[in-house]
Amino acid sequence: MTQIQLSTLTTAAVGGPAGSYSEARSEAEIIDAVRAADDAGRPLLIIGGGSNLLVSDDGFPGAVLKIASQGFTVNAEDSCGGVSVVVQAGHNWDAFVEHAVKHAWSGVEALSGIPGATGATPVQNVGAYGADVSQTIAAVRTWDRERSAVKTFTNSELKFGYRDSVLKRTTVNGSPRYVVLTVEFQLPLGRMSAPVRYAELARALGVEQGQRAYANDVRREVLRLRASKGMVWDAGDRDTYSTGSFFTNPIVTGEVAARLPEEAPRYPGGGDGLTKLSAAWLIDQAGFGKGFGLDPDSVSGGRASLSTKHTLAITNRGGATTADMLAVAREVRDGVVERFGIELHPEPLLIGVEL
Ligand SMILES: Cc1cc2nc3c(=O)[nH]c(=O)nc-3n(C[C@H](O)[C@H](O)[C@H](O)COP(=O)(O)OP(=O)(O)OC[C@H]3O[C@@H](n4cnc5c(N)ncnc54)[C@H](O)[C@@H]3O)c2cc1C
Repeated sequence: MTQIQLSTLTTAAVGGPAGSYSEARSEAEIIDAVRAADDAGRPLLIIGGGSNLLVSDDGFPGAVLKIASQGFTVNAEDSCGGVSVVVQAGHNWDAFVEHAVKHAWSGVEALSGIPGATGATPVQNVGAYGADVSQTIAAVRTWDRERSAVKTFTNSELKFGYRDSVLKRTTVNGSPRYVVLTVEFQLPLGRMSAPVRYAELARALGVEQGQRAYANDVRREVLRLRASKGMVWDAGDRDTYSTGSFFTNPIVTGEVAARLPEEAPRYPGGGDGLTKLSAAWLIDQAGFGKGFGLDPDSVSGGRASLSTKHTLAITNRGGATTADMLAVAREVRDGVVERFGIELHPEPLLIGVEL
């Protein structure tokens, strides 16, 4: 049996061998494969598009299961209630968004161009350009490995937060308690987008923040902005061989935020007077500019670096290992602590490694 390298299954193109590898193309196949691994007491790594994973160079010794179920079903569609659509976990996220925009299902257009599978979107409450999936998810059907039973979560039961949900909080070493089978979205019908909440996107569209635009235009502008930052997966662009943003934007108290220079970007960070900071700005201002790490004398030997288009992505320039990616991440994290006293935390799941 040939051994599958996780580097071939991840967008960062790093990671060692899988103990065993299989693909599940339907809900029944997912449940069967998960049960088989659990009954055998084997560690299990669930993988969708591999765009939010950084796996050890030693690989993953257990069973790696790729979720490859495809398609979606429209449950109901009318002008009052909108459309209720149930998407299979393995269905490519951006293909679904493209379909939604084309068919005037509004609400996910700002999430265009995010790599990966739909089943992973509720895990970290995928978001971009002022939107996240918590705004449109109605329910998530899962396989509960602890109880060996199907469990459906409503939106409020998922306890969505910034890049967070119950599904993520119950995942240990990439092994989730709840394996997502399908995701149900509730989307209003119409050619107009949800209100555009992100200033840069509103400017690009020529609308005020909070106004709506044509969803088609929103998708086009989001894809353009994302591509300019290396945030649309492209096999020909090394700046996209990453996990997207490597660090989450830190959420700090007003007191900590007040210590930063006046020009530091600040956003509301949820309740209790918390402030969300820009990790990209902190990294840049701590002296780590675009392309940091490209120098062959740097910690990674130039094999891994910050993207040349954006300071928040750590990229594989060709031939990088997971250790190389982490070496860059550590240098950046430590530099930001030294300069601002703020610790950045990784956004991707780290499997078999620590930062
Ligand atoms: C170029 C680029 C740009 C990106 N931009 C963004 C962005 O704008 N916003 C954003 O939020 N993210 C972004 N990401 C990160 C990533 O694309 C998202 O987090 C995406 O949802 C991950 O999907 P995936 O299928 O690739 O998940 P994977 O990387 O395969 O898995 C990620 C985690 O989810 C778990 N998981 C996957 N499928 C299931 C399932 N069916 N059931 C239970 N657990 C599951 C895995 O076990 C793992 O823990 C970007 C990544 C890249 C490479």
